[in-house]
Amino acid sequence: MRIRVVGAGTMGRGIAQWAVMAGHTVELADARPEAVADAVAFVRGMLERAVEKGRMSRAAADRAIGALLALDSPYDLAGGGAAPELVIEAVLEDLEVKAELFIGLERVLPDSTVFATNTSSLSVTRIGARLADPGRLAGLHFFNPVPLMKLVEVVPGAATREGVPELLTALVAESGHRPVTVADTPGFLVNHAGRGLVTEAFALLEESVAGHAAIDRIARDVLGLRMGPFELMDLTGLDVTASVMDTVWDGFRHADRLRPSYLPANRVAAGLYGRKSLRGFYAYGEGEAGPSLPEPRIEGGDPARAVRTTGDELAAVATASAAAEDALVLVPTWGTSVAAAVAADGLPAERTLGVDPLSLGTPRRVLAVTPATRDDAVRDAVAVLARDGHAVSVVRDTAGSVAQRLLASIVNVATGIAERGVAEPAEIDVAVTLGLGYPQGPLAWGDSVGSARMLALLRALAHETGDPRYRPTPWLTQRGSLRLPLSTPMARLPE
Ligand code: NAD
Repeated sequence: MRIRVVGAGTMGRGIAQWAVMAGHTVELADARPEAVADAVAFVRGMLERAVEKGRMSRAAADRAIGALLALDSPYDLAGGGAAPELVIEAVLEDLEVKAELFIGLERVLPDSTVFATNTSSLSVTRIGARLADPGRLAGLHFFNPVPLMKLVEVVPGAATREGVPELLTALVAESGHRPVTVADTPGFLVNHAGRGLVTEAFALLEESVAGHAAIDRIARDVLGLRMGPFELMDLTGLDVTASVMDTVWDGFRHADRLRPSYLPANRVAAGLYGRKSLRGFYAYGEGEAGPSLPEPRIEGGDPARAVRTTGDELAAVATASAAAEDALVLVPTWGTSVAAAVAADGLPAERTLGVDPLSLGTPRRVLAVTPATRDDAVRDAVAVLARDGHAVSVVRDTAGSVAQRLLASIVNVATGIAERGVAEPAEIDVAVTLGLGYPQGPLAWGDSVGSARMLALLRALAHETGDPRYRPTPWLTQRGSLRLPLSTPMARLPE
Protein backbone atom coordinates (compact mmCIF):
# COMPACT_ATOMS: atom_id res chain seq x y z
CA MET A 1 0.00 0.00 0.00
CA ARG A 2 1.15 3.58 -0.57
CA ILE A 3 0.80 5.43 2.74
CA ARG A 4 1.44 9.11 3.45
CA VAL A 5 2.47 9.77 7.03
CA VAL A 6 2.13 13.42 8.04
CA GLY A 7 3.98 14.49 11.17
CA ALA A 8 7.50 13.12 11.45
CA GLY A 9 7.88 13.35 15.25
CA THR A 10 8.01 10.49 17.75
CA MET A 11 4.91 8.75 16.44
CA GLY A 12 5.18 9.58 12.75
CA ARG A 13 8.68 8.16 12.46
CA GLY A 14 7.63 5.02 14.36
CA ILE A 15 4.63 4.52 12.09
CA ALA A 16 6.83 5.08 9.02
CA GLN A 17 9.36 2.52 10.26
CA TRP A 18 6.66 -0.05 11.00
CA ALA A 19 5.02 0.46 7.59
CA VAL A 20 8.18 0.23 5.47
CA MET A 21 9.28 -2.85 7.42
CA ALA A 22 5.94 -4.43 6.56
CA GLY A 23 6.55 -3.81 2.86
CA HIS A 24 4.56 -0.63 2.28
CA THR A 25 5.71 2.49 0.48
CA VAL A 26 5.71 5.49 2.82
CA GLU A 27 5.72 9.17 1.91
CA LEU A 28 6.78 11.16 4.96
CA ALA A 29 5.87 14.82 5.42
CA ASP A 30 5.98 17.46 8.14
CA ALA A 31 5.43 21.19 8.44
CA ARG A 32 9.15 21.39 9.26
CA PRO A 33 11.32 19.90 6.48
CA GLU A 34 14.16 19.28 8.95
CA ALA A 35 11.83 16.98 10.92
CA VAL A 36 11.44 14.80 7.81
CA ALA A 37 15.20 14.62 7.28
CA ASP A 38 15.69 13.71 10.95
CA ALA A 39 13.01 11.05 10.77
CA VAL A 40 14.42 9.48 7.61
CA ALA A 41 17.86 9.33 9.24
CA PHE A 42 16.28 7.85 12.37
CA VAL A 43 14.43 5.11 10.46
CA ARG A 44 17.56 4.30 8.44
CA GLY A 45 19.51 4.00 11.68
CA MET A 46 16.91 1.65 13.16
CA LEU A 47 16.94 -0.54 10.07
CA GLU A 48 20.75 -0.64 10.02
CA ARG A 49 20.70 -1.74 13.65
CA ALA A 50 18.18 -4.46 12.84
CA VAL A 51 20.59 -5.77 10.15
CA GLU A 52 23.56 -5.65 12.55
CA LYS A 53 21.62 -7.58 15.16
CA GLY A 54 20.58 -10.20 12.59
CA ARG A 55 16.88 -9.37 12.89
CA MET A 56 16.57 -8.25 9.28
CA SER A 57 18.33 -9.16 6.03
CA ARG A 58 20.43 -6.57 4.21
CA ALA A 59 18.15 -6.90 1.17
CA ALA A 60 14.98 -6.33 3.22
CA ALA A 61 16.51 -3.29 4.93
CA ASP A 62 17.63 -1.82 1.58
CA ARG A 63 14.15 -2.32 0.18
CA ALA A 64 12.58 -0.69 3.24
CA ILE A 65 14.97 2.27 3.10
CA GLY A 66 14.18 2.68 -0.60
CA ALA A 67 10.44 2.63 0.17
CA LEU A 68 10.69 5.64 2.50
CA LEU A 69 10.17 8.82 0.49
CA ALA A 70 10.61 12.34 1.88
CA LEU A 71 8.02 14.90 0.77
CA ASP A 72 8.58 18.66 0.75
CA SER A 73 5.06 19.34 1.98
CA PRO A 74 2.11 17.32 3.34
CA TYR A 75 0.14 18.66 0.38
CA ASP A 76 2.49 17.46 -2.38
CA LEU A 77 0.56 16.12 -5.30
CA ALA A 78 1.07 12.49 -6.07
CA GLY A 79 4.35 12.11 -7.94
CA GLY A 80 4.30 9.92 -11.08
CA GLY A 81 0.53 9.52 -10.93
CA ALA A 82 0.53 7.34 -7.80
CA ALA A 83 -1.68 8.83 -5.09
CA PRO A 84 -1.50 7.49 -1.52
CA GLU A 85 -4.31 5.09 -0.67
CA LEU A 86 -4.07 6.15 2.96
CA VAL A 87 -2.90 9.18 4.92
CA ILE A 88 -2.02 8.70 8.59
CA GLU A 89 -1.60 11.94 10.50
CA ALA A 90 0.56 12.18 13.60
CA VAL A 91 0.83 15.98 13.96
CA LEU A 92 0.23 18.17 17.00
CA GLU A 93 -2.57 17.03 19.34
CA ASP A 94 -4.88 19.92 18.45
CA LEU A 95 -8.25 19.56 16.77
CA GLU A 96 -7.86 22.73 14.71
CA VAL A 97 -4.40 21.72 13.42
CA LYS A 98 -5.58 18.23 12.50
CA ALA A 99 -8.79 19.45 10.85
CA GLU A 100 -6.90 22.08 8.78
CA LEU A 101 -4.46 19.42 7.62
CA PHE A 102 -7.20 17.06 6.43
CA ILE A 103 -9.18 19.90 4.80
CA GLY A 104 -6.03 20.78 2.82
CA LEU A 105 -5.39 17.15 1.90
CA GLU A 106 -8.98 16.74 0.78
CA ARG A 107 -8.33 19.43 -1.84
CA VAL A 108 -5.29 17.75 -3.40
CA LEU A 109 -5.79 14.01 -3.00
CA PRO A 110 -8.34 11.82 -4.80
CA ASP A 111 -11.66 11.03 -3.08
CA SER A 112 -10.61 7.41 -2.74
CA THR A 113 -7.73 8.18 -0.32
CA VAL A 114 -8.65 7.10 3.22
CA PHE A 115 -7.70 9.39 6.13
CA ALA A 116 -6.59 8.14 9.55
CA THR A 117 -5.83 10.15 12.66
CA ASN A 118 -3.44 8.98 15.37
CA THR A 119 -5.03 11.27 17.95
CA SER A 120 -4.86 9.92 21.48
CA SER A 121 -7.44 12.15 23.12
CA LEU A 122 -9.54 14.01 20.56
CA SER A 123 -12.84 12.82 19.18
CA VAL A 124 -12.39 11.13 15.80
CA THR A 125 -15.95 12.12 14.93
CA ARG A 126 -15.26 15.81 15.61
CA ILE A 127 -12.13 15.80 13.43
CA GLY A 128 -14.11 14.05 10.65
CA ALA A 129 -17.00 16.50 10.97
CA ARG A 130 -14.76 19.25 9.56
CA LEU A 131 -14.27 17.41 6.26
CA ALA A 132 -16.40 17.67 3.13
CA ASP A 133 -16.53 13.85 3.29
CA PRO A 134 -16.44 12.72 6.95
CA GLY A 135 -17.03 9.13 5.81
CA ARG A 136 -13.41 8.73 4.69
CA LEU A 137 -11.82 9.26 8.12
CA ALA A 138 -11.27 6.95 11.09
CA GLY A 139 -8.92 6.79 14.06
CA LEU A 140 -5.80 4.63 13.96
CA HIS A 141 -4.27 4.88 17.40
CA PHE A 142 -0.74 3.54 17.71
CA PHE A 143 1.32 3.26 20.89
CA ASN A 144 4.89 4.38 21.50
CA PRO A 145 7.32 2.91 20.41
CA VAL A 146 5.27 1.84 17.39
CA PRO A 147 7.45 -1.01 16.07
CA LEU A 148 7.44 -2.71 19.51
CA MET A 149 3.93 -1.94 20.73
CA LYS A 150 1.80 -4.44 18.82
CA LEU A 151 -1.58 -2.94 19.62
CA VAL A 152 -3.39 -0.53 17.31
CA GLU A 153 -6.85 0.81 18.14
CA VAL A 154 -9.05 1.19 15.06
CA VAL A 155 -11.65 3.84 15.86
CA PRO A 156 -14.59 4.39 13.52
CA GLY A 157 -16.17 7.83 13.95
CA ALA A 158 -19.93 8.29 13.95
CA ALA A 159 -19.89 9.12 10.22
CA THR A 160 -17.10 6.79 9.08
CA ARG A 161 -18.06 4.87 5.95
CA GLU A 162 -18.39 1.12 5.99
CA GLY A 163 -15.25 -0.39 4.53
CA VAL A 164 -12.87 2.17 6.05
CA PRO A 165 -12.40 0.48 9.47
CA GLU A 166 -12.22 -2.87 7.69
CA LEU A 167 -9.43 -1.59 5.42
CA LEU A 168 -7.47 -0.27 8.41
CA THR A 169 -7.99 -3.45 10.40
CA ALA A 170 -6.74 -5.58 7.51
CA LEU A 171 -3.72 -3.29 6.98
CA VAL A 172 -2.72 -3.47 10.66
CA ALA A 173 -3.15 -7.24 10.88
CA GLU A 174 -1.29 -7.91 7.60
CA SER A 175 1.53 -5.68 8.80
CA GLY A 176 2.10 -7.74 11.94
CA HIS A 177 0.31 -5.67 14.61
CA ARG A 178 -2.91 -6.47 16.49
CA PRO A 179 -5.91 -4.31 15.57
CA VAL A 180 -8.72 -3.84 18.08
CA THR A 181 -11.93 -2.09 17.05
CA VAL A 182 -12.86 0.53 19.62
CA ALA A 183 -15.79 2.97 19.82
CA ASP A 184 -15.04 6.69 19.56
CA THR A 185 -15.18 7.44 23.29
CA PRO A 186 -12.84 9.45 25.57
CA GLY A 187 -9.48 7.69 25.92
CA PHE A 188 -10.67 5.01 23.47
CA LEU A 189 -9.92 1.69 25.19
CA VAL A 190 -6.41 1.55 26.59
CA ASN A 191 -6.20 5.10 27.95
CA HIS A 192 -9.61 4.59 29.57
CA ALA A 193 -8.68 1.20 31.07
CA GLY A 194 -5.41 2.63 32.39
CA ARG A 195 -7.29 5.13 34.59
CA GLY A 196 -8.30 2.34 36.98
CA LEU A 197 -4.79 1.83 38.34
CA VAL A 198 -3.49 5.41 38.45
CA THR A 199 -6.55 7.17 39.86
CA GLU A 200 -6.80 4.59 42.64
CA ALA A 201 -3.07 4.82 43.35
CA PHE A 202 -3.53 8.58 43.88
CA ALA A 203 -6.62 7.97 46.04
CA LEU A 204 -4.49 5.74 48.31
CA LEU A 205 -1.82 8.43 48.48
CA GLU A 206 -4.41 11.14 49.23
CA GLU A 207 -5.65 9.08 52.18
CA SER A 208 -2.06 8.44 53.39
CA VAL A 209 -2.69 4.68 53.35
CA ALA A 210 0.94 4.22 52.29
CA GLY A 211 3.74 6.08 50.53
CA HIS A 212 4.28 5.83 46.79
CA ALA A 213 7.21 3.41 47.06
CA ALA A 214 5.23 1.07 49.34
CA ILE A 215 2.24 1.16 46.98
CA ASP A 216 4.55 0.37 44.04
CA ARG A 217 6.09 -2.61 45.87
CA ILE A 218 2.65 -4.01 46.66
CA ALA A 219 1.49 -3.48 43.07
CA ARG A 220 4.52 -5.37 41.76
CA ASP A 221 4.70 -8.21 44.27
CA VAL A 222 1.04 -8.81 45.11
CA LEU A 223 -0.62 -7.91 41.82
CA GLY A 224 2.29 -9.01 39.62
CA LEU A 225 2.43 -5.73 37.70
CA ARG A 226 5.74 -5.15 35.92
CA MET A 227 5.81 -1.61 37.27
CA GLY A 228 4.08 0.05 40.17
CA PRO A 229 1.71 2.92 39.32
CA PHE A 230 4.08 5.69 40.46
CA GLU A 231 7.06 4.13 38.71
CA LEU A 232 4.89 3.90 35.60
CA MET A 233 3.81 7.54 35.83
CA ASP A 234 7.46 8.57 36.18
CA LEU A 235 8.16 6.72 32.94
CA THR A 236 5.15 8.07 31.02
CA GLY A 237 5.59 11.58 32.41
CA LEU A 238 3.16 12.93 35.01
CA ASP A 239 2.25 15.83 32.70
CA VAL A 240 0.97 13.31 30.15
CA THR A 241 -0.76 11.08 32.72
CA ALA A 242 -2.45 14.02 34.48
CA SER A 243 -3.79 15.31 31.18
CA VAL A 244 -5.15 11.88 30.19
CA MET A 245 -6.80 11.52 33.62
CA ASP A 246 -8.51 14.89 33.19
CA THR A 247 -9.53 14.26 29.56
CA VAL A 248 -11.10 10.89 30.29
CA TRP A 249 -12.88 12.15 33.43
CA ASP A 250 -14.17 15.26 31.63
CA GLY A 251 -15.15 13.18 28.61
CA PHE A 252 -17.28 10.89 30.75
CA ARG A 253 -18.93 13.87 32.46
CA HIS A 254 -17.12 13.43 35.76
CA ALA A 255 -17.93 9.77 36.30
CA ASP A 256 -16.99 9.00 39.94
CA ARG A 257 -15.13 5.84 38.99
CA LEU A 258 -12.63 7.85 36.91
CA ARG A 259 -12.23 10.76 39.33
CA PRO A 260 -8.66 12.13 39.33
CA SER A 261 -6.86 13.34 42.44
CA TYR A 262 -5.96 16.94 43.29
CA LEU A 263 -2.37 15.81 43.76
CA PRO A 264 -0.84 15.81 40.24
CA ALA A 265 -1.56 19.48 39.41
CA ASN A 266 1.05 20.97 41.78
CA ARG A 267 3.57 18.27 40.98
CA VAL A 268 3.23 19.06 37.27
CA ALA A 269 3.52 22.79 37.97
CA ALA A 270 6.75 22.06 39.86
CA GLY A 271 8.15 20.11 36.91
CA LEU A 272 8.13 16.78 38.76
CA TYR A 273 7.32 14.89 35.55
CA GLY A 274 9.42 11.82 36.24
CA ARG A 275 12.33 10.39 34.28
CA LYS A 276 12.38 13.11 31.64
CA SER A 277 12.90 15.88 34.24
CA LEU A 278 15.05 13.59 36.45
CA ARG A 279 12.61 14.05 39.32
CA GLY A 280 9.20 12.62 39.82
CA PHE A 281 8.05 10.31 42.56
CA TYR A 282 11.61 8.98 42.44
CA ALA A 283 14.90 10.74 41.70
CA TYR A 284 16.78 9.77 38.52
CA GLY A 285 19.93 11.90 38.60
CA GLU A 286 23.53 10.59 38.75
CA GLY A 287 23.84 7.99 41.46
CA GLU A 288 20.12 7.99 42.33
CA ALA A 289 18.39 4.64 42.80
CA GLY A 290 15.10 5.55 41.07
CA PRO A 291 12.35 3.05 41.88
CA SER A 292 14.86 0.39 42.98
CA LEU A 293 15.24 2.21 46.28
CA PRO A 294 16.09 -0.21 49.13
CA GLU A 295 13.10 -1.16 51.28
CA PRO A 296 13.20 -0.08 54.93
CA ARG A 297 13.39 -3.10 57.22
CA ILE A 298 11.18 -3.47 60.26
CA GLU A 299 13.18 -5.37 62.86
CA GLY A 300 13.07 -6.45 66.47
CA GLY A 301 9.77 -8.33 66.44
CA ASP A 302 9.14 -11.72 68.03
CA PRO A 303 8.46 -14.35 65.35
CA ALA A 304 7.17 -16.74 68.04
CA ARG A 305 4.42 -14.41 69.28
CA ALA A 306 1.09 -16.21 69.60
CA VAL A 307 -1.30 -15.35 66.79
CA ARG A 308 -4.96 -16.05 66.40
CA THR A 309 -6.99 -15.26 63.32
CA THR A 310 -10.62 -14.52 62.67
CA GLY A 311 -10.99 -16.07 59.24
CA ASP A 312 -10.26 -19.41 57.60
CA GLU A 313 -8.20 -17.64 54.96
CA LEU A 314 -5.51 -16.87 57.51
CA ALA A 315 -5.53 -20.28 59.23
CA ALA A 316 -1.98 -21.00 58.00
CA VAL A 317 -0.50 -18.20 60.14
CA ALA A 318 -2.49 -18.96 63.33
CA THR A 319 -0.52 -20.38 66.27
CA ALA A 320 -2.84 -19.85 69.21
CA SER A 321 -6.35 -20.73 70.20
CA ALA A 322 -9.06 -18.12 70.48
CA ALA A 323 -8.62 -18.07 74.24
CA ALA A 324 -4.89 -17.22 74.26
CA GLU A 325 -4.14 -14.10 76.31
CA ASP A 326 -2.22 -11.32 74.61
CA ALA A 327 -2.16 -13.15 71.27
CA LEU A 328 -2.09 -10.96 68.18
CA VAL A 329 -5.40 -11.00 66.31
CA LEU A 330 -5.07 -11.04 62.54
CA VAL A 331 -8.17 -10.17 60.57
CA PRO A 332 -8.57 -10.87 56.85
CA THR A 333 -10.02 -7.77 55.23
CA TRP A 334 -12.03 -8.06 52.01
CA GLY A 335 -13.26 -4.60 51.11
CA THR A 336 -13.57 -3.98 54.85
CA SER A 337 -11.28 -2.42 57.47
CA VAL A 338 -9.66 -3.54 60.69
CA ALA A 339 -11.43 -0.71 62.53
CA ALA A 340 -14.82 -2.05 61.40
CA ALA A 341 -13.89 -5.59 62.52
CA VAL A 342 -12.73 -4.32 65.94
CA ALA A 343 -15.98 -2.40 66.39
CA ALA A 344 -18.23 -5.20 65.16
CA ASP A 345 -16.58 -8.12 66.97
CA GLY A 346 -15.20 -6.47 70.11
CA LEU A 347 -11.59 -7.40 69.22
CA PRO A 348 -8.67 -5.98 71.26
CA ALA A 349 -7.80 -2.92 69.18
CA GLU A 350 -4.22 -2.56 70.47
CA ARG A 351 -3.20 -6.00 69.13
CA THR A 352 -5.54 -6.46 66.16
CA LEU A 353 -4.12 -6.05 62.66
CA GLY A 354 -5.43 -6.68 59.17
CA VAL A 355 -3.97 -8.98 56.54
CA ASP A 356 -4.86 -8.63 52.87
CA PRO A 357 -5.96 -12.13 51.79
CA LEU A 358 -5.02 -11.22 48.22
CA SER A 359 -1.40 -11.03 49.37
CA LEU A 360 -1.31 -14.50 50.90
CA GLY A 361 -0.24 -16.56 47.91
CA THR A 362 2.30 -13.96 46.79
CA PRO A 363 5.89 -13.08 47.77
CA ARG A 364 4.70 -10.10 49.85
CA ARG A 365 2.22 -10.09 52.72
CA VAL A 366 0.43 -6.87 53.50
CA LEU A 367 -0.39 -5.92 57.05
CA ALA A 368 -2.77 -3.09 58.04
CA VAL A 369 -2.45 -1.13 61.27
CA THR A 370 -4.88 1.26 62.96
CA PRO A 371 -4.16 4.28 65.19
CA ALA A 372 -4.89 1.97 68.16
CA THR A 373 -2.37 -0.76 67.25
CA ARG A 374 0.57 -0.93 69.68
CA ASP A 375 4.12 -0.72 68.23
CA ASP A 376 5.17 -4.09 69.69
CA ALA A 377 2.14 -5.72 68.07
CA VAL A 378 3.17 -4.30 64.67
CA ARG A 379 6.77 -5.50 65.02
CA ASP A 380 5.73 -8.95 66.20
CA ALA A 381 3.14 -9.29 63.42
CA VAL A 382 5.80 -8.38 60.84
CA ALA A 383 8.17 -10.98 62.31
CA VAL A 384 5.45 -13.65 62.29
CA LEU A 385 4.39 -12.97 58.70
CA ALA A 386 8.01 -12.79 57.49
CA ARG A 387 8.84 -16.18 59.09
CA ASP A 388 8.82 -18.22 55.90
CA GLY A 389 10.79 -15.73 53.82
CA HIS A 390 8.00 -13.39 52.79
CA ALA A 391 8.48 -9.67 52.36
CA VAL A 392 6.03 -7.74 54.56
CA SER A 393 4.53 -4.31 53.88
CA VAL A 394 2.84 -2.35 56.62
CA VAL A 395 0.11 0.05 55.52
CA ARG A 396 -2.51 2.10 57.33
CA ASP A 397 -5.93 0.59 57.75
CA THR A 398 -8.39 1.31 54.97
CA ALA A 399 -11.39 -0.47 53.59
CA GLY A 400 -9.92 -3.09 51.28
CA SER A 401 -6.14 -2.55 51.64
CA VAL A 402 -3.84 -1.42 48.82
CA ALA A 403 -3.79 -4.32 46.35
CA GLN A 404 -7.53 -4.96 46.67
CA ARG A 405 -8.36 -1.34 45.98
CA LEU A 406 -6.07 -1.18 42.95
CA LEU A 407 -7.51 -4.41 41.57
CA ALA A 408 -11.10 -3.43 42.33
CA SER A 409 -10.62 -0.18 40.43
CA ILE A 410 -8.88 -1.84 37.44
CA VAL A 411 -11.65 -4.45 37.13
CA ASN A 412 -14.58 -2.10 37.78
CA VAL A 413 -13.33 0.43 35.20
CA ALA A 414 -12.85 -2.37 32.65
CA THR A 415 -16.41 -3.60 33.17
CA GLY A 416 -17.54 0.00 32.55
CA ILE A 417 -15.73 -0.16 29.21
CA ALA A 418 -17.48 -3.44 28.37
CA GLU A 419 -20.88 -2.14 29.38
CA ARG A 420 -20.55 0.98 27.24
CA GLY A 421 -19.85 -1.26 24.28
CA VAL A 422 -16.46 0.36 23.68
CA ALA A 423 -15.11 -3.04 22.62
CA GLU A 424 -15.95 -6.73 22.92
CA PRO A 425 -14.96 -8.25 26.31
CA ALA A 426 -12.30 -10.53 24.85
CA GLU A 427 -10.83 -7.60 22.92
CA ILE A 428 -10.65 -5.51 26.11
CA ASP A 429 -8.40 -8.14 27.66
CA VAL A 430 -6.20 -8.38 24.55
CA ALA A 431 -5.87 -4.60 24.29
CA VAL A 432 -4.97 -4.13 27.96
CA THR A 433 -2.37 -6.88 28.06
CA LEU A 434 -0.72 -5.56 24.87
CA GLY A 435 -1.23 -1.86 25.54
CA LEU A 436 -0.60 -1.68 29.28
CA GLY A 437 1.47 -4.82 29.81
CA TYR A 438 -0.72 -6.09 32.68
CA PRO A 439 -0.12 -9.75 33.62
CA GLN A 440 -3.62 -10.55 32.36
CA GLY A 441 -6.60 -8.71 30.93
CA PRO A 442 -8.72 -6.92 33.56
CA LEU A 443 -11.82 -9.06 32.98
CA ALA A 444 -9.82 -12.30 33.12
CA TRP A 445 -8.09 -10.93 36.22
CA GLY A 446 -11.42 -10.33 37.92
CA ASP A 447 -12.47 -13.83 36.90
CA SER A 448 -9.35 -15.34 38.43
CA VAL A 449 -10.58 -13.91 41.76
CA GLY A 450 -14.20 -14.77 40.89
CA SER A 451 -16.98 -12.43 39.74
CA ALA A 452 -19.02 -12.99 42.92
CA ARG A 453 -15.97 -12.23 45.07
CA MET A 454 -15.17 -9.10 43.05
CA LEU A 455 -18.77 -7.99 43.53
CA ALA A 456 -18.50 -8.58 47.28
CA LEU A 457 -15.25 -6.58 47.34
CA LEU A 458 -16.71 -3.58 45.53
CA ARG A 459 -19.94 -3.64 47.52
CA ALA A 460 -17.98 -3.70 50.77
CA LEU A 461 -15.75 -0.84 49.58
CA ALA A 462 -18.78 1.20 48.51
CA HIS A 463 -20.58 0.44 51.76
CA GLU A 464 -17.73 1.26 54.13
CA THR A 465 -16.46 4.36 52.31
CA GLY A 466 -19.79 5.68 51.07
CA ASP A 467 -17.85 6.77 47.97
CA PRO A 468 -19.74 6.18 44.69
CA ARG A 469 -16.33 5.62 43.09
CA TYR A 470 -16.57 2.00 44.29
CA ARG A 471 -20.14 1.35 43.20
CA PRO A 472 -19.92 -1.82 41.11
CA THR A 473 -21.02 -1.37 37.50
CA PRO A 474 -24.27 -3.05 36.42
CA TRP A 475 -22.07 -5.30 34.22
CA LEU A 476 -20.10 -6.51 37.25
CA THR A 477 -23.18 -6.67 39.49
CA GLN A 478 -25.11 -8.88 37.09
CA ARG A 479 -22.27 -11.26 36.36
CA GLY A 480 -21.29 -11.45 40.03
CA SER A 481 -24.89 -12.14 41.06
CA LEU A 482 -25.28 -14.80 38.37
CA ARG A 483 -21.81 -16.20 39.09
CA LEU A 484 -20.91 -15.77 35.44
CA PRO A 485 -17.45 -14.78 34.21
CA LEU A 486 -16.95 -11.03 33.82
CA SER A 487 -16.00 -11.70 30.22
CA THR A 488 -19.55 -12.94 29.47
CA PRO A 489 -20.78 -10.78 26.56
CA MET A 490 -23.93 -8.64 26.74
CA ALA A 491 -27.28 -10.41 26.73
CA ARG A 492 -28.55 -10.81 23.16
CA LEU A 493 -31.87 -9.13 22.46
CA PRO A 494 -34.28 -10.68 19.96
CA GLU A 495 -34.11 -8.97 16.54
P1 NAD B 1 5.77 15.16 18.17
O1 NAD B 1 5.72 16.52 18.74
O2 NAD B 1 6.92 14.28 18.45
O3 NAD B 1 5.62 15.27 16.58
C1 NAD B 1 4.65 16.05 15.94
C2 NAD B 1 5.18 16.47 14.58
O4 NAD B 1 4.12 17.07 13.85
C3 NAD B 1 6.31 17.49 14.66
O5 NAD B 1 7.41 17.04 13.89
C4 NAD B 1 5.70 18.75 14.07
O6 NAD B 1 6.63 19.53 13.32
C5 NAD B 1 4.65 18.18 13.14
N1 NAD B 1 3.53 19.09 12.85
C6 NAD B 1 2.87 19.89 13.70
N2 NAD B 1 1.88 20.53 13.04
C7 NAD B 1 1.92 20.10 11.76
C8 NAD B 1 1.14 20.36 10.61
N3 NAD B 1 0.11 21.21 10.65
N4 NAD B 1 1.45 19.73 9.47
C9 NAD B 1 2.48 18.87 9.41
N5 NAD B 1 3.24 18.58 10.47
C10 NAD B 1 2.97 19.19 11.63
O7 NAD B 1 4.40 14.47 18.63
P2 NAD B 1 4.07 12.91 18.77
O8 NAD B 1 4.36 12.46 20.14
O9 NAD B 1 4.65 12.17 17.62
O10 NAD B 1 2.47 12.93 18.64
C11 NAD B 1 1.82 13.08 17.40
C12 NAD B 1 0.38 12.65 17.53
O11 NAD B 1 0.32 11.29 17.97
C13 NAD B 1 -0.44 13.45 18.55
O12 NAD B 1 -1.76 13.57 18.07
C14 NAD B 1 -0.40 12.56 19.78
O13 NAD B 1 -1.49 12.79 20.64
C15 NAD B 1 -0.47 11.20 19.15
N6 NAD B 1 0.05 10.10 19.98
C16 NAD B 1 1.21 10.25 20.68
C17 NAD B 1 1.70 9.18 21.42
C18 NAD B 1 3.00 9.30 22.18
O14 NAD B 1 3.26 8.43 23.05
N7 NAD B 1 3.84 10.27 21.89
C19 NAD B 1 1.00 7.96 21.44
C20 NAD B 1 -0.18 7.84 20.69
C21 NAD B 1 -0.63 8.92 19.96
